[in-house]
Amino acid sequence: MPLSIVREDIKSLVGSLNFAQKLDRSRGLIREAYDQYGDSLVVANSLGKDSVAVWHLAKLVSMDIRGFIVTTRFKPEETIKFMNETVSKYPELRVFKNDESIPDRLYESDPDRCCDILKVQPTRRAIEEMNVKCWITGLRSTEGRTRADYQEIEERDEGLIKLNPILLWEEREVWQYLALNQVPVNPLYAKGYRSLGCLPCTQITNGQDERAGRWVGTSKCGGECGIHTRPLKTDYEK
Ligand code: SF4
Repeated sequence: MPLSIVREDIKSLVGSLNFAQKLDRSRGLIREAYDQYGDSLVVANSLGKDSVAVWHLAKLVSMDIRGFIVTTRFKPEETIKFMNETVSKYPELRVFKNDESIPDRLYESDPDRCCDILKVQPTRRAIEEMNVKCWITGLRSTEGRTRADYQEIEERDEGLIKLNPILLWEEREVWQYLALNQVPVNPLYAKGYRSLGCLPCTQITNGQDERAGRWVGTSKCGGECGIHTRPLKTDYEK
């Protein structure tokens, strides 16, 4: 059955479906997408807990599903080590990085520009080079204020479907899935981090908002790097 874009009441589904129902729904979405898009279906793996859960789910649907990782010069050493371990286990995960020179401490003076250069541009390159027609993310609606309005199936860029198969999962359910399936995670979680990003822009925080530790002290606090908000195809620049 082809994927169809239907607007749903995500908040009410988060509360009404149980873990097993959400899991079935997530697997079904990935299966439908793979049936429809085959090799042009790709997982964006940020190496955070949500991404590794989605990557694990996708591999249950088909071991042939490919993925990409966008990394930056500012990732913590634990994340780089975890990335290298993950890629050696799954060589079908391609790594994209932008090494062009940027002003010193751009992450302080203009974090939006820094993220655009180091994260959004390599994501555009991944979409282009891997001939992606449908990309899978680990977005979850309860992660923070900026993630409440997404749908499971979206077409923000014309001709590029975005699938958010674990949009309904809560933080506890991600950890439940990872524990039940013994999926390895970035060791930074053991130190208390709840959302992982680049070293200068990530802090350990408590409270409701899982992303509150991102870009603390800037206008971008708890916000987005841009890969979920900026055009990925139409604005593509080589
Ligand atoms: S998270 Fe921080 S260091 Fe990383 S790309 Fe964005 S602004 Fe730059």
